[in-house]
Amino acid sequence: MLEIKKVVPNSLKQNLVNAIGWKTNRKIVVIESDDWGSIRMPSLAVYHYLIEQGLDIGSYYNRLDSLETEKDISALFEILDAFRVKTGKTPVITGNFLVANPNFERIKSDHFQNYHYEPFIKTYQRYPGCEKSFQTLQEGVVARLFRPQFHGREHLNVPMWMEALQDGHHETILAFECNCWGYKRDYKDAGAVRFQSAFNCRHLKDDAYYKDVLIEGLQLFERIFGYRFRSFIAQNFVWNNSIEKILAELGVHIIQGNRNQSIPMNGNQCYRTKLHYTGQRNRLGQRYLVRNAFFEPSSNPSKDWISSCIKEINNAFLWKTPAIISAHRVNFIGSLVPENREHNLRLFSKLLYEIQKKWPMVEFVSSDSLFIKNMEIPC
Ligand SMILES: [Zn+2]
Repeated sequence: MLEIKKVVPNSLKQNLVNAIGWKTNRKIVVIESDDWGSIRMPSLAVYHYLIEQGLDIGSYYNRLDSLETEKDISALFEILDAFRVKTGKTPVITGNFLVANPNFERIKSDHFQNYHYEPFIKTYQRYPGCEKSFQTLQEGVVARLFRPQFHGREHLNVPMWMEALQDGHHETILAFECNCWGYKRDYKDAGAVRFQSAFNCRHLKDDAYYKDVLIEGLQLFERIFGYRFRSFIAQNFVWNNSIEKILAELGVHIIQGNRNQSIPMNGNQCYRTKLHYTGQRNRLGQRYLVRNAFFEPSSNPSKDWISSCIKEINNAFLWKTPAIISAHRVNFIGSLVPENREHNLRLFSKLLYEIQKKWPMVEFVSSDSLFIKNMEIPC
């Protein structure tokens, strides 16, 4: 595998990754959106309470991201559908799902001795505004506007989190009482990113746990959506060879990601970085899809995301490789800050029309079907 030192500027790395990626004359755009199904910040009241309690929850995800409401989903689908009606093209979003959330009540009644989870469709029933989220979601899936794939069983490193709860770690328990775990605070060697990062393998013995997580996640996904996912995106881009091997055994042929994979080393104290490019094949025959364009306005509202994204798509097409746009769920969520959703949807709609104007032959393709249809991987 290639490894590029940090001294190489980002634009050069991007050119290099696009240059060696899979080649096509077609103008293919893939839109990948992570984090669907996960709670993140349960409510504005919890957000303010945790700040009052002194927890470091400064990330924009905690301020803006929450379980998707029916309104969030339908507002996004309206944009996609209006584009389809106007242009005759179906813009599909690959929605990467966490199929479960912790079952806080059961974990508490077990005095933190055992972990329990619930399918995200059950979590929908307990969150105001989410009661009809699944029904609305399914309408978009049937209309081929939204294609669910797999981001993990839950967006949580269960062994580390349970250890912190069993140790009585004050802040972890405080957040737990509010149905929350994504705050930014070190617990021993397990920082917030690592609580959020399920595949941050700490010990070799964790492999058995990861196998259970992936198998149960796959079964739950299939029960909920009625089909098997073929592509996977690791949380926080952290995973190792064992995860790939388990996924290959489960029939997952496509690994989504950024150009850098973080591989945990030496009991989680450091990472090795591995560079990937689109179409690259690993020893198990799996292929990588690498994001080379970004629409993440929630992360920096003052940036001109439309022109930067168009430039990135242009670069991908110059190198005759698909444009794979990263657009996390947080950009489309309005239950905590309605303006976040409204503003970003306006931008997203503009972006779609700009793409269509600049490349009338554009084809919107989901992550799993790009590889299966165009790269001849057996499905
Ligand atoms: Zn994620």
